[in-house]
Amino acid sequence: MPQSEFDIIARYFTPQRVTRRDVALGIGDDAALIAVPEDTQLAVAIDTLVSGVHFPVETAAEDIGYKALAVNLSDLAAMGAEPAWFTLALTLPEAERDWLDGFARGLFSLAETHHLQLVGGDTSRGPLTVSIQVAGYVPPQAALTRRGAQVGDAVYVSGRLGEAALGLACLQQADEYEYDASAIRKLNRPEPRVTLGLALREIATACIDISDGLLADLAHILTASQVGAAINVQRLPLSERLHALCVSDKRYYQLALSGGDDYELCFCVPPDQEGRLAAIAAAQGISLTRIGQLESEPGIQLRIGDQAYPHDAPGGFEHFRG
Ligand code: ADP
Ligand code: MG
Repeated sequence: MPQSEFDIIARYFTPQRVTRRDVALGIGDDAALIAVPEDTQLAVAIDTLVSGVHFPVETAAEDIGYKALAVNLSDLAAMGAEPAWFTLALTLPEAERDWLDGFARGLFSLAETHHLQLVGGDTSRGPLTVSIQVAGYVPPQAALTRRGAQVGDAVYVSGRLGEAALGLACLQQADEYEYDASAIRKLNRPEPRVTLGLALREIATACIDISDGLLADLAHILTASQVGAAINVQRLPLSERLHALCVSDKRYYQLALSGGDDYELCFCVPPDQEGRLAAIAAAQGISLTRIGQLESEPGIQLRIGDQAYPHDAPGGFEHFRG
């Protein structure tokens, strides 16, 4: 028997294990009611994933559910906000049980990890599109933004760059790129750096999550903070596989510079605060790498050794470009 819109909501989206005290009324009414804690700012972000645009059409439902939430949590991480609840607008070509089971599994596994409650949404029929709006809390004045970076600050990134782009390349250009399961996992299962964002609140002068490629996203910090940056391309944290490719041909650095979907944080730190980063990295079991520093000359200077690394515009993915 076909499932109605209401069957889908009741079966897949209502029985969530997480419950939060700040959610006064969740799914089932015309709107959710949230008791926002006093003296708290609400950080709100929304991101849409469209099949064939933001993920390959063959992507497993479980990965789509996971990633749709992960990319939003990454935005909260970049603000230093603590995730609280989310809404889901799901547009589906058809209501397939297996697909919905997988989608819900991927979605709620990550929601539970971050104690995040689904409080409402919308379900309609059409080309596969997932929009998630997420909200988190941050004390007044504590949020990390793109402004505030100063000349002399060190530029850091978390994790490794370019792996998701390598994963996408192995799927789309299989003749040129050897299959790499761990790169494909980075593409489908990015780990939002929520705890890192929280720890950076008192340390970073500016922060952004890398979704469109390092150069494009770092450029947003530079514009907002009115500074420039010098980046040492050889310092970029890479997987062994990508490192080997870059040694063979420096053009492969483009994957780490302009490839999308990293969902790592890029942030700026005054030199006298850098010492605290090692403790954070050790406590959280992640790597934090200094890739350069901020300068007064606008734009991004890329260096490889003592030479300039040639690059064109900031690059990065842009939907409406020609
Ligand atoms: P309305 O017509 O008043 O907008 P809907 O019939 O669209 O309400 O939805 C009924 C209830 O189910 C609402 O509380 C809505 O927030 C929730 N809902 C609908 N779709 C989803 C979804 N995909 N995920 C979570 N909650 C949903
Ligand atoms: Mg509705």
